[in-house]
Formats: sequence, structure tokens, C-alpha cells
Amino acid sequence: MSIRKLMTDPAPIRFALALIVLALLILPISSRADTLADTAVDTTVGAVDTVSADNSIASGTESSGTSLYPMSPERKAKLISYSRFNNIWRFVDFFISLAILSLILFTGLSARMRDIAAKVRIRFFSVWLFFAMFAIADYLLGLPFSIYRGFIVESDFGFMNQTFSEWFSENLLGLLIGLIIGVVPVWFFYWLVGRMKRWWLAFSLGAIPFAVLMIVIVPVFIAPLFNKFEPLKDKQLEAEILTLAESAGIEGSDVFQVNGSKQSSKINAYVTGLFNTKRIVLYDTMIDNFTHGEIRFVMGHEMGHYLMNHMWWGLGLAVIFIMFALWLMDKTIHGIIRRFKNRFRFERLSDLASLPLVLIFLTVISFVFQPINNSASRYMEHQSDKFGMDISEVSGETAATAFDKLSVFNLSDPDPHPLIEFWFYSHPSLKKRMEFVKGYHP
Ligand SMILES: [Zn+2]
Repeated sequence: MSIRKLMTDPAPIRFALALIVLALLILPISSRADTLADTAVDTTVGAVDTVSADNSIASGTESSGTSLYPMSPERKAKLISYSRFNNIWRFVDFFISLAILSLILFTGLSARMRDIAAKVRIRFFSVWLFFAMFAIADYLLGLPFSIYRGFIVESDFGFMNQTFSEWFSENLLGLLIGLIIGVVPVWFFYWLVGRMKRWWLAFSLGAIPFAVLMIVIVPVFIAPLFNKFEPLKDKQLEAEILTLAESAGIEGSDVFQVNGSKQSSKINAYVTGLFNTKRIVLYDTMIDNFTHGEIRFVMGHEMGHYLMNHMWWGLGLAVIFIMFALWLMDKTIHGIIRRFKNRFRFERLSDLASLPLVLIFLTVISFVFQPINNSASRYMEHQSDKFGMDISEVSGETAATAFDKLSVFNLSDPDPHPLIEFWFYSHPSLKKRMEFVKGYHP
């Protein structure tokens, strides 16, 4: 899950965040941020076993009679092929990330970049130069794949609302932001590794204020570079949401609408920010396609995240995970460095040239331990669904239709293979969520 993992995401903002987060060397935060910036539905659905995915889609929407928002056979075929593609891409993407990082490492490119950066006297700027060269190399090597996944595939499935040059310039803006902010954690990492034995502990704790700062500033300074955030335009809807917010104890001014349709036709809503920047964001694509009742339920769900402080829980879990991942890395990485030192052209972890190796370790560790993060996330999502039902006072049918529409519009597999859900899904499957809201009585 290196840069590319998020580069493939259609939303360009994710790429900027990804670079920062990559730089943070705390990859779990990125996946948390995704969940925190709650996607209401996992847009990247998947199943390794594509045959069973087929069957499950068929049974999920037909035999169980859950088609509250029926789709055409063409649409269903599209959903199946998009799901199938995403299932495969999860693994392809993982291996592409590893391949690119390995290329930079084993060809000695990383060591060469370190030699160039060493010519800069001031340490911080030397680290910056190295980081910039590395991030750009990684970006360029991954570019064909990110164009394919982020632009071509999204266009083929009819989600893309940008021309290639619009898409590409946002992608570059993301890179630029990452290059500016990302150096801080990289510098911090190498500063600690060279100085103390328990650097993994110090880094995890020291990363907390940085991560908090990032979550605070992203909604105010970075997200507006890509999209326009404003108060709700539909005054009737605004009144309904304000009433809902009031009964939940949330300031109405914390609800924004965003022109997500600028990039993609996908439907979404999320909670983000901390302290004064904490907010609920509703996509215009949802306003255009959902009834007020369905939106009220989604808003109720988001208010659940907001009030139950899921951003803080996510951050806490991420810090624990980073600590574990870095500790595990510390136990294993030195042996690898000793073994390949001639090939890598560095001898210690504290050498800047080790950055790609560090990222290989973290990519593998977070891939393997992803189910733990995702289980915690699914638990919080379920709590929010419950909260949404309690507060929005919509019927189970209305809430279920909202989930059904998410599946149809975003081409999300409502009923993935259980193993895929366990491993990759940050939200319970839409089928489970539909069943829950239909049977739930507040
Ligand atoms: Zn959620």
C-alpha cells in the first residue's frame, strides 16, 4: 500500500494525502483517513473468487428480493465486471507497488539519489532533495498504472467527469502537495533512527501531533484546492438536516455540500477534520440522486461518526498499528540490510537510501494486517448505521434503498465473498447493512 495504492483512487485529493501519509510512513492512517472520511460505501469492492462473486451478486439482488432500486441487466453486467476488475486490481496494485519499490532499491537508484542529496549541506534540505527525487521516481514509474486505473478504467465505466488534462493536472497538484508536506515525517524518521534504539516507539508517539495537525488542516487548506465546499443549496433539505443536527447536538454550520461531480459521478458522504475543522460533507451527486429521506439517513450515519468521535478512535488505532508495524520492521529489517548491503549500497537503516526498503516492509505488513484495521472500522460503521436509524427516524425500507442506490450508482458489489469482506472491506457489505436496517427497530 505505497503511494500507488491511493494514486489509483479516482479522487485526486487522496493522492496528495497518500504522499503525505506515505511520507508519514504510517500507512494505516491512510486507510483510516479513508474510513474516517467515511465513504458510506466501499467503492473498491472485491472478491478473489470471481465466480462466487458472480453468484453472490445474482443471489444478493434477486433471490433475497432486496431489489428496492432495481437495475437493468446491462447495469448489473457492468457492476459484475467492475467488481471483478477491482478484486483483481487489489492484488495487482499490491504487487506493482512492491515491484516499483524493489526496482528503485535493487538497481541502486536509491543509493544514487542519496549520493546526489548528500551534496546539500543542511541536513533537512538534503533529506528533502532525496525525498523529492524518490517520490518523483516512484510517481513516474507508477504513472502508466495510475492513468490506467484512475482515468481509463473510471472513464470506461462511466464515472469520469474530467478530461484527461483536468485529471492529470489534479494528479500533479496532489504530487506537489505531497512533496511539500511529506518531507517532515521522513526527516523525523531518519532523525530518530540514527539516534535512539527505540525509535519505533518515539516515531509512533511523535507522529501523533503531526497526524492531528494534518487531519485539522486538510479540510480547510487542501481539500478546497480540488473542490468547492459550501453550505447546502437546497434550503428545504438544509432545514431538514439542521433539525436532525440539532436533535443530535451538532452545529448546523458543520454540514457542507461539495461538488464531487467535478471529478466523478460516484456518490458519497463523509466526516472529516478535528476540533474546529470537524465537519460532515455531502456530495452533490448524492443530493441529485437521493430522496430527502435517504439523505437524512446517510446524514444520521455521518453524525454517528461525528458524535462517537470515530476520528479519534481511528487515529488511536492507527498509532497502535504503526507502533506494531515499526517494531516488527525493526526486528527483521536489519538482517535483510546486512544480507544485501552490497546490492543496496547502504549498510544501515539510518541511511536515507533505505526508504524504499522501509516502504516495502510497511506495504507488506499493512497488507497482511489489514483485516485487523478493517474489522475495527466495520464495527464503527455498524455503530453509525445504528445511530443513523435511531436519529433519522426513516423507515428501514428507506435506509435500505439508500444502500441499494449506492450499490447501483457506484457499481459496488453488495454481497462480496466473506473472505474478501473480512480482508479488504472497511464497511460491512451493503447486503448486511440492508438486512440490518430492515430488521432494526429504534
Ligand atoms: Zn460511515
